Amino acid sequence: MTRYIFITGGVVSSLGKGLGSAALGALLQARGYCVRLCKLDPYLNVDPGTMSPFQHGEVFVTDDGAETDLDLGHYERFTGVPAKATDNTTTGRIYTSVLQKERKGEYLGATIQVIPHITNEIQDFIREKEGTADFVLCEIGGTVGDIESLPFLEAIRQFGNEVGRKRAIFIHVTLLPYIPAAGELKTKPTQHSVKELMSYGIRPQILLCRADRPIEEDERNKIALFCNIDQKKVIPALDVSSIYEVPITYHDEGLDHQVMDSFGIKDISNLDLSTWHNIVKNIKEPESEVTIAIIGKYTNLADSYKSLNEALIHGGIANKVKVKLKFIEAEIFEKEALSDHLEGVNGILVPGGFGDRGVEGKIKAAQYAREKKIPYFGICYGMQMAVIEAARNLCGIDGAGSSEFKKCRVPVIGIMTEWTKGDKKELRKKDENLGGTMRLGAYPAKLKEGSKVAGIYNSLEISERHRHRYEVNINYIEQLERSGLKFSGMSPDGRLPEIIEYVDHPWFIGVQFHPELKSKPFDPHPLFVSFISAAIEQERLV
Ligand code: GLN
Repeated sequence: MTRYIFITGGVVSSLGKGLGSAALGALLQARGYCVRLCKLDPYLNVDPGTMSPFQHGEVFVTDDGAETDLDLGHYERFTGVPAKATDNTTTGRIYTSVLQKERKGEYLGATIQVIPHITNEIQDFIREKEGTADFVLCEIGGTVGDIESLPFLEAIRQFGNEVGRKRAIFIHVTLLPYIPAAGELKTKPTQHSVKELMSYGIRPQILLCRADRPIEEDERNKIALFCNIDQKKVIPALDVSSIYEVPITYHDEGLDHQVMDSFGIKDISNLDLSTWHNIVKNIKEPESEVTIAIIGKYTNLADSYKSLNEALIHGGIANKVKVKLKFIEAEIFEKEALSDHLEGVNGILVPGGFGDRGVEGKIKAAQYAREKKIPYFGICYGMQMAVIEAARNLCGIDGAGSSEFKKCRVPVIGIMTEWTKGDKKELRKKDENLGGTMRLGAYPAKLKEGSKVAGIYNSLEISERHRHRYEVNINYIEQLERSGLKFSGMSPDGRLPEIIEYVDHPWFIGVQFHPELKSKPFDPHPLFVSFISAAIEQERLV
């Protein structure tokens, strides 16, 4: 029997509902349950694939090639359960599907309405998870009271009503703001938010109250009284210094116990949270520190490189070091000397990106790392930049660039129109939807025996997630290899370069995929572990 936990948010956005859901998922797993997490996003885009990272943070890519909300990244990092395309939907997708059915005549005779057609479609998305886990945790994006989220709230109300209280509960995440003049945490916004939720027919069983300081007994009682909720189910969710502390603190406050209680499940003995305790210990008591420069384009919005930041932290956990991140706008290097900004950094990372703003700066960063023998990690665009740098400066191909640049005379990076995946031929057509021209999701790669990456992965076959439109043009491989840049990972059909490395450099690796998407605190990605270890080595040498 599958049970459902719906998580809504109130008062303000950015309350950490996604993290809270992920942490609860991890706690239920620690109780021996199988969990599945999913998210309903109220915006009108069909998926976040076409949104700027400035708008919506990172786009998380699943193995099965879906471009999804970054909260799915939290879910996967906390539970280790690989996210699927069917774990995220949006208003845009729901409407698209309903309208397609309408055109096909599937509702023949009916007037198509928000209720029941849209709400039924949303419920189908939820119902599809039946039987796939003991607990399905379903987060509703946005804030209660938004016009956009109404159909979703109505759908989960109907769904909860249909399966009954033994199988569906509602958790509402709110904020208790601290007002310095009054010297206290205020409960009124929470009261109003719960009232609003109740006006849609949803009565939350549990309140998760975010606050920046301890919530006194009095305040908890007040919330319980006004919101019609058991006092023990008003759970403080205080700020913590590391997100990986969240499962521990929520457990200490009784969240998972209260979830069991709400479902009427008899509680078991103590949970083993030692994995989380070890992770937090390594974060809080590092043995030393390294600084990694991230040369990108979306550097002033922390969420745009969410998985990357976490993967670097995971690399630090594995090496027992604190990883300090120094974000640098790539464009700066088009005007200023690199050494002014990169003095003292122990590793340089050029992450994924799109468009040509800042590309010359990224290419210079790759050159700086290669010449000064500083560990360099190029991810997706960062690998392409390193290839262009080698083409220009080692092979003497003047004007080498990517077809993605506004001006490019020699596209060493270009569009590949055809390759094979397994025994299937895949084609990329110019006039497809923007998303359609991308190589998305998990693809296998074969690694060269004896290469550095084969050692790091300890395997000759890997599978990693992709999200890009362009590829290294294989006609240049020979020339690039002669200059010292080795292609140590290729697609099984040999047509798509996947990994590059320099043999005579302490650590210079570029990958066409996004390894950060698969890293977890309890299972750090080997490339990040190795990169951070190279950075530690570099720190020792200076
Ligand atoms: N813009 C590059 C491409 O589309 C790289 C994409 C990325 O870094 N994710 O190929």
